[in-house]
Amino acid sequence: SPAFDPRDPLGIDAEFTPEQLAIRDSVRALCRDHVQPHVAEWFERGEFPQARELARELGKLGVLGMHLEGYGCAGLSAVDYGIACEELESCDSGLRSLVSVQGSLAMFAIWRWGSEEQKQHWLPQMAAGEAIGCFGLTEPDHGSDPASMRTTARRDGSDWVLNGRKMWITNGSIASVAVVWAKTDEGVRGFVVPTDTPGFSAPEIKHKLSLRASVTSELVLDDVRLPADAVLPEVTGLRGPLSCLNEARYGIVWGAVGAGRACLEAALDYATTREQFGRPIGGFQLTQGKLADMAVRVQNGRLLALHLGRRKDAGQLVPQQVSFGKLDNVRGALEVARTARTILGANGISLEYPVIRHMTNLESVLTYEGTSEMHALTIGQALTGQNAFRG
Ligand code: FAD
Repeated sequence: SPAFDPRDPLGIDAEFTPEQLAIRDSVRALCRDHVQPHVAEWFERGEFPQARELARELGKLGVLGMHLEGYGCAGLSAVDYGIACEELESCDSGLRSLVSVQGSLAMFAIWRWGSEEQKQHWLPQMAAGEAIGCFGLTEPDHGSDPASMRTTARRDGSDWVLNGRKMWITNGSIASVAVVWAKTDEGVRGFVVPTDTPGFSAPEIKHKLSLRASVTSELVLDDVRLPADAVLPEVTGLRGPLSCLNEARYGIVWGAVGAGRACLEAALDYATTREQFGRPIGGFQLTQGKLADMAVRVQNGRLLALHLGRRKDAGQLVPQQVSFGKLDNVRGALEVARTARTILGANGISLEYPVIRHMTNLESVLTYEGTSEMHALTIGQALTGQNAFRG
């Protein structure tokens, strides 16, 4: 009979094809060679100095816009993309954020709602990692309630003129192109803004204690004049940005499993080598109880991610199910990270080990792409038919 594998206790890897395991291994190798040796130092310095080089490496591997068809994108399945997200986030949530924002937010917006010219111009260079994209929806005063956004786009002749501020925008300061959502007379519209357009600037947000190896920025739009064809022609209204968020949230469902898994592995290694009272701490029942709960949490998360991925590939995934996965898997990963931190004792707070880095990163993951409260309200509405978003 097959042996019990602590790294894959339910044998879920057997659900994946050889091609999918190869994707996992190649993303894992990229993380091992290009990110793992440096990420704690980047986190400590609060910098992501090699983001551009990494984007090119990720482009070569085909993970940018990996689940999109055509225009230089790999055209792979949702499960394939999920497997990549799990690996990326097992390394660092900042790395997965770079890929999610690029592929699921900025590229997806252009791919799904853009003109043929916009697609042909931007998508191949974004898939290759030559151009980095960002996605500006959140504002300083409007996060969970984007319908109240204040950024405007008004017509001036055939041009558009954008004014406003966006806040907490991943990749903002390193982006060549920003997809910016703004209010117009017709409703919310998306705009493809080359970041060298006069009036556009993207100062980096400092003093974060989470996602420190990730660039987060404010977007300042002061009379940014764009040609008529800068608008995403195929969508009006909030369903535009919400469709993109749904894509990125799907990647987070898998990514969170990776962060939790990395914490579990660190705790397991530690528990079998650290000795107190004359024996490995993994020999104490309390520690084993923690490890068992963590393993159950991580594997349940992976099963949920795989289930949702298969539904997505079958065209059956609905946003409420994505909320289900995002809510539970991020919350679960945080529980796992916090428990792992206790197993490492004082070392649990040191950047010499990955746990505290994952733990603080996951605080951002819990908040962005819809806070846990927003996803609970989405599920609550689906269960009861009552909309509780406005109290
Ligand atoms: P608020 O909306 O002010 O919420 C504050 C609290 O109130 C939360 O707990 C919230 O759940 C709760 N709350 C609000 N309304 C209700 C209600 N009706 N019922 C119950 N509770 C409620 N945004 C982008 O557009 N692009 C990006 O690339 C991006 N990257 C990010 C990167 C990082 C590191 C972070 C931290 C954020 C990023 N965001 C990005 C922004 C993120 O999506 C928002 O922070 C998030 O949507 C929450 O908005 P807020 O911070 O304004 O909180």
